[in-house]
Amino acid sequence: MFDCRECQRLESECDRAIEGIRAVVRERFISVREKVFALREAQEVRDSRLRLLYDHRRNHPRKSPVHKRKRAVPSQEFPALVLVS
Ligand SMILES: [Zn+2]
Repeated sequence: MFDCRECQRLESECDRAIEGIRAVVRERFISVREKVFALREAQEVRDSRLRLLYDHRRNHPRKSPVHKRKRAVPSQEFPALVLVS
């Protein structure tokens, strides 16, 4: 876990968005088309939340012990590695 409030906030927003998708899945709709539409909307919300989280992490100062180390040279880090971790 990170000691970063912005990370925590964005993570809980992702969780909430994913929960929103589950709610749509559970819910009964009048028609399948309506359900698919609602599902797609909920997924878009989740995607935008995830994008915010990834963008934040990509520019993140440093993981875990935030103040203990000097910053590494950012150009040596690949964004893909940040996404995976
Ligand atoms: Zn953060």
